[in-house]
Amino acid sequence: MNTGEYIELEKKYGAHNYHPLDVVIEKAQGVWVYDVEGNRYLDCLSAYSALNQGHVHPRILQAMIQQAEKVTLTSRAFRNDQLPLLYKELSEMTGYQMSLPMNSGAEGVETALKLARKWAYRVKKVPRYQAEIIVAAGNFHGRTVSIVSFSTEPLYREDFGPFTPGFVIVPYGDVKAVEKAITPNTAAVLLEPIQGEGGVIIPPQGYLQQVSRICRETNTLFIADEIQTGLGRTGKLFACQHEDVRPDIVIIGKALSGGFYPVSAILADEPLLGLFQPGEHGSTFGGNPLGAAIARAALKVIIEENLIENARIQGEYFLEQLAEIPGKHIKEIRGKGLLIGVELKPEAGGARRFCEALKEKGILAKETHQHVIRFAPPLIISRSDVDWALERINQVLTMP
Ligand SMILES: *Cc1c(COP(=O)(O)O)cnc(C)c1O
Repeated sequence: MNTGEYIELEKKYGAHNYHPLDVVIEKAQGVWVYDVEGNRYLDCLSAYSALNQGHVHPRILQAMIQQAEKVTLTSRAFRNDQLPLLYKELSEMTGYQMSLPMNSGAEGVETALKLARKWAYRVKKVPRYQAEIIVAAGNFHGRTVSIVSFSTEPLYREDFGPFTPGFVIVPYGDVKAVEKAITPNTAAVLLEPIQGEGGVIIPPQGYLQQVSRICRETNTLFIADEIQTGLGRTGKLFACQHEDVRPDIVIIGKALSGGFYPVSAILADEPLLGLFQPGEHGSTFGGNPLGAAIARAALKVIIEENLIENARIQGEYFLEQLAEIPGKHIKEIRGKGLLIGVELKPEAGGARRFCEALKEKGILAKETHQHVIRFAPPLIISRSDVDWALERINQVLTMP
């Protein structure tokens, strides 16, 4: 079958909740993907940063195969021999005493929200069901009903009410707004350290630091959604570390499995994460031995292959070189590590046509919102592959 035939099938039999580029991928390795016509592309999206380790990383693949031959699922009704090791390795790597595994990122966020509410009632003594959680405008935390309840993107939210109450929305990057929104009933402030889906929005220097300080002073939890920014993407293990901030709860997902399998988790210390009692929260697949073995290998690759350092080095170079491109269409270039956004001027006609043109040249990137092209290749990318990409990005960004 050819590309058109696959697309027809998808149109006819699948829900149309995505608007993908018309490329049908059949295999991939490292930073490269191949379509059914035999064309090769450099992946500059990395499945929204789930593929920090690159496609089909051989060590993660081996771990997956070996574990799949032994045992894949026990449910948490029984114990398995992989989860305790994942707990220990995550703790050693991140400095948090405990973790709680889930599957998708959205489930990780839901888990953090539930924990914050429980903490508010049991520890902070907020009156029952009065807990508030402060979030930022322009956020993206996933797609469940509760999470879209506090989205500010009409497309994500509009037709899906009634909404879950208990959320207060403040402008992103505005410390004063957070300070004003905190009340004695505030359980937590939930933020992305950089808003990825929001258009690679980097808050003003010191924002995370100050929000974290205000949270400490008002006995409020600070929750960082590092699902996209964490695990090396921005040149640090967590993006919050650029400001020396240690949130009370960190949510991770995506690259936690190197793209092999959905694995997410929340990280926190014992006084907080120890609040969950048996039966209060769970997931059939969360913490399963296959996912745990994959996550263990995915984390090892990040460390042993120095991906965090490579993200920093290649990211700096990528940004520097992008800044050299004559910018008729470019409004702003911003980024940290290998999470880079090129915002185009409104009169450039939208980022989509540039992504289509990049695809024709062998680069897969996706517009985020209407005017931003995000470049977020796997963190294994080499200098020569960055140069290869830049040459083509230059051609596309300078087109009429
Ligand atoms: C992708 C993402 C999520 C949701 O993760 P899913 O695995 O798609 O549920 C949540 N928060 C952020 C910041 C993300 O980038």
